[in-house]
Amino acid sequence: MARINEHYLKLQAGYLFPEIGRRVAAFASEHPDADLIRLGIGDVTLPLAPAVVEAMRAAVVAFGNEAGFRGYGPEQGYDFLLEAIREQDFRTRGVELANDEIFVSDGSKQDSGNIQEILGADCRIAVTDPVYPVYVDTNVMAGRSGAADAEGRFEGIVYLAATEANGFMPGPPEEPVDIAYLCSPNNPTGAVASRANLEAWVAWARERDALLVFDAAYDAFIQDSALPRSIYEIEGARECAIEMRSFSKRAGFTGVRCAYTVIPKELSGSTASGERVGLNGLWARRHTTKFNSVPYVVQKAAAASLVGEGRKQCGEQVAYYMANARALREGLAEAGLKLFGGEHAPYIWLCTPDGLSSWDCFDKLLNDAHVVCTPGSGFGAAGEGYVRISAFNSRERVEQAIPRIRDAFCG
Ligand SMILES: *Cc1c(COP(=O)(O)O)cnc(C)c1O
Repeated sequence: MARINEHYLKLQAGYLFPEIGRRVAAFASEHPDADLIRLGIGDVTLPLAPAVVEAMRAAVVAFGNEAGFRGYGPEQGYDFLLEAIREQDFRTRGVELANDEIFVSDGSKQDSGNIQEILGADCRIAVTDPVYPVYVDTNVMAGRSGAADAEGRFEGIVYLAATEANGFMPGPPEEPVDIAYLCSPNNPTGAVASRANLEAWVAWARERDALLVFDAAYDAFIQDSALPRSIYEIEGARECAIEMRSFSKRAGFTGVRCAYTVIPKELSGSTASGERVGLNGLWARRHTTKFNSVPYVVQKAAAASLVGEGRKQCGEQVAYYMANARALREGLAEAGLKLFGGEHAPYIWLCTPDGLSSWDCFDKLLNDAHVVCTPGSGFGAAGEGYVRISAFNSRERVEQAIPRIRDAFCG
């Protein structure tokens, strides 16, 4: 009998984005002429940068002749990409990595979901609330969660509320935790971790022998160069942290697919009998067993986004989205709306006016402003009372959305 993995049955049935899709489709069918502005899901809208397209084109052409053709690539990634990552993403920030500490993959969603496979089934995990749902759901699938309560919180998971009081960047917990997932700049709140916050996490992890999984998918959106972009800018992080980065948001690769995970050689975990085992070796074993490398064409494109003209063009795309974020922040704040984020991240975390619930606010924006946002409660119980507004759209649409949102609430 093929028994199923019953942990899957604990997953929340009504997943956030399908429910949003259902409500938007229902509204659109009742109001076929409504001009909807989508500031909901976190996906880029600008086309690929010209230098990135050119690198892809050249790689495709090379594959079409005998001299340039290649078969399977190295599972961890080609050296040309590993070296560009080391040089541009880390050495520029004073961080030295070795090529074999970097694992190129087809996405940080996968990496942040898969990383728990090399960790023990009885590890206790902590996440922020609200949270990027992948961290929680993949631990539920692996049996680390226990049952869910009425609010959808799992009894075996430690939730750290991200609130206005802690700047939406909670510090480490008191209770025992083995693995903590951090995301900065944050999806969904748009907050960014300060150096002091990351120092507190690293100190905690080293003291407790805990592991930090640091998701820096939005690092390129940090506007202040004094803020850390990598967890490895914090002393001691090499002994306690894994870092994940993605080309999705910073180079428009959500449909192209390329990311990487860093696992320093010093990082280790413990066996039941107390023996230390390096996590780099375990992840290398997993990666080479289950993954056959990112396409050469895509790795060439990723490398082009890191250097020279490509780097400049991708930087301009990030600046474009950040100007949208600024317009949203200023335009909505001027109208007296209370909001956070959007300074070092492409997301605005809007406090719902008049004590509306997240879903009521979503419905009001949909019905009255014809603007699609994301209800904060969909990312966790502590997201109740907020909605996420994304800066991923054209300037024109963002500028149309601002007065509509203002009028819906203040008109
Ligand atoms: C978009 C995003 C990612 C990137 O995922 P990819 O699979 O690389 O596209 C990772 N983490 C968070 C929090 C994100 O919002």
